[in-house]
Amino acid sequence: MTRGDNKVYLRGLIEFSNICRKNCYYCGIRCDNRSVERYELTDDEVLAAADFAWRHRYGSVVLQSGEQQSPAFTGRITALLQRIKAHTHNEVGITLSCGEQSEATYREWFDAGAHRYLLRIETSDRELYYKLHPNDNKHSFDARLEALNNLKKIGYQTGTGVMIGLPFQTMQHLADDLLFFKTMDVDMVGMGPYLEHKDTPLYRYADKLLPLEKRFELSLRMITALRMLMPDINIAATTALQVLDPEGREKAVMAGANVIMPNITLPSVRPNYQIYDNKPGLHDDAGGTLSTLENALHKAGITIGYSEWGDSKHFKPHSVAG
Ligand code: SAH
Repeated sequence: MTRGDNKVYLRGLIEFSNICRKNCYYCGIRCDNRSVERYELTDDEVLAAADFAWRHRYGSVVLQSGEQQSPAFTGRITALLQRIKAHTHNEVGITLSCGEQSEATYREWFDAGAHRYLLRIETSDRELYYKLHPNDNKHSFDARLEALNNLKKIGYQTGTGVMIGLPFQTMQHLADDLLFFKTMDVDMVGMGPYLEHKDTPLYRYADKLLPLEKRFELSLRMITALRMLMPDINIAATTALQVLDPEGREKAVMAGANVIMPNITLPSVRPNYQIYDNKPGLHDDAGGTLSTLENALHKAGITIGYSEWGDSKHFKPHSVAG
């Protein structure tokens, strides 16, 4: 299948904090999980990771974290965005994935240089959503939808996504997820298999899930179906695929994905960002991870868009008056 220019773009993923106010039933870093050691990288450590990405000709970085909402958090991200932009002479594109925030916060970060934002809806089915999240004002389906709409309105390239193979999830749900992406007219999608984590409430359904190889296969099929439905968006080959198959991300690219997000988080804190069990690459250093991946892509005949932002071709900036 052709993906336009046929290139794959790299985003260096920096998981800068696992502190989270939310309690999602599937996620290993949910706030009620007391067995996680909480961390926050320093600004200098985040900048060092961004510098690594820049030197290795990754076009972009993704700053991802648990969800925090405070003026201090907002201000810190704003300052980080400005520092990364200045340090890399605006050469590195920045995607944020820091959860639900107020419209004003999203706007402040956009003005500071972030131009893409990832916020998965997790499932587009309201009923299923509330089987995966507490039904309270911290986990409102409507608030998540509103956040996505605010991101679009502000002018971000907006990304969302779902988990595949969740307990209670049907094929109908997944088909509706694809239609949701289309109706929302998103610019980017990241979706991958649900992987159980033993310290979470959903773990009790572990024996009712699709076998792992089926979840993997279904994830690739979802990518292919979405590529047909939305030919010009960015689709990520997610890390969760790599858990189920060491070549999972390369296979996802062959199925239609065009973005890979190698983890460039400091190896020392990686064990604390275990959103699911058996997360890969915990002990690799970032350089090692990249060259293995580069070799594999090269072997598969896939070209990497070095030093390019790799923006979604679907995205149309708001027309400027006049
Ligand atoms: N807190 C941020 C993102 C951090 S986690 C936000 O809300 O946007 C990034 C993604 O990991 C989540 O959106 C979720 O889809 C995925 N994730 C969390 N737990 C998972 C699990 N057990 N299996 C697979 N994916 C998971």
